[in-house]
Amino acid sequence: IVTYNNVCKSYGDLHVLKNIDLNIAPGEKVALIGPSGSGKTTLARLLMTLEEPTDGTIEVNGELLWHQRVNNKLVKANEKHLHQVRGNIGMVFQHFNLFPHMTILRNVMEAPRNVLGLSKEEAKERAITMLERVGLAEKIDAYPAQLSGGQKQRVAIARALVMRPKVMLFDEPTSALDPELVGEVLEVIKAIAAEGEMAMLLITHEMDFARDVADRVLFFDQGRIIEQGPPKKIFINPESERLQTFLSRFN
Ligand code: ATP
Repeated sequence: IVTYNNVCKSYGDLHVLKNIDLNIAPGEKVALIGPSGSGKTTLARLLMTLEEPTDGTIEVNGELLWHQRVNNKLVKANEKHLHQVRGNIGMVFQHFNLFPHMTILRNVMEAPRNVLGLSKEEAKERAITMLERVGLAEKIDAYPAQLSGGQKQRVAIARALVMRPKVMLFDEPTSALDPELVGEVLEVIKAIAAEGEMAMLLITHEMDFARDVADRVLFFDQGRIIEQGPPKKIFINPESERLQTFLSRFN
C-alpha cells in the first residue's frame, strides 16, 4: 500500500535519508524505532507531503505521490495530485492541533464535511461512531481546552480515522503526554490495529508498544534501515551491534 523506492532526502550536505526501500503491505503494522535524529520523522514527513524527496519515488495505493507521469516521463506532481493521493493517509502527530474554538464533534466532522463533501447528518454520524471507538462519546460537546492531553490525542486519532484512510501514520503520538496519560492512547491505537484492515506506520520510543502492535519492526540509524524483522527477532535476537546498543538503553 506504501512503497518507498530508493528514496533520498538531503538538506544541503546533510544526507538525512539514504536510499530507502520500504514496502508496507495492506493492513501491515510497521513500527519504526531508532535514535533521535536518525531520520524517522523525515521519512514520515515525506509521506505526509510536508517535505519533498531529493531522489526516488513514493507510491501510495498504487499511485505515485510526488510525481505524475506525463508522456511516459516522471514530472513533479501538482497540488491537486498530491492532495488526492495523500487522501489515503491519516496522520497523528505528537501535538494534537485541534481547532480550539470548535467542539470535539465539530473537530471530527470538519474534514468529512469539507473534504469529502458529506452532508451534515452523515458527517455527524460518522464522527460520533469514531468518537465512540476512542471512548469519548460523552465528550462530544466539550471544547479541546476541557480535555486532558490523552483525551485530546484520542480526538486527533478519531479525526484521522473518520476519513477512512488506507494507511495511518503515527509520529510519536505519546511523547508529548504526561506519563500517566500514555497508556490510554496506546490502548486505543492497539485496539484500532487489532481491527486489522488499515496499514499503520508507527514511529515510537515505546518498545513494549512496538513489540505488541507491530508485524514488523524497522530499526533506523543514520538515515538507513539497519535491521528489520518481526518483533520477536528484533527485540530478542538483534543482529547488529548498533541495534543491540540501542535496545540496551531501554532495559
Ligand atoms: P527524533 O526521534 O528526535 O524525532 P528523528 O529520527 O525523527 O529524530 P529527524 O527529525 O528525521 O530524526 O531528523 C533527522 C536529521 O535531519 C536531524 O539531524 C535533523 O537535524 C535534520 N533535519 C530535519 N529537518 C531539517 C530541516 N528542515 N533542515 C535541516 N536539517 C533538518
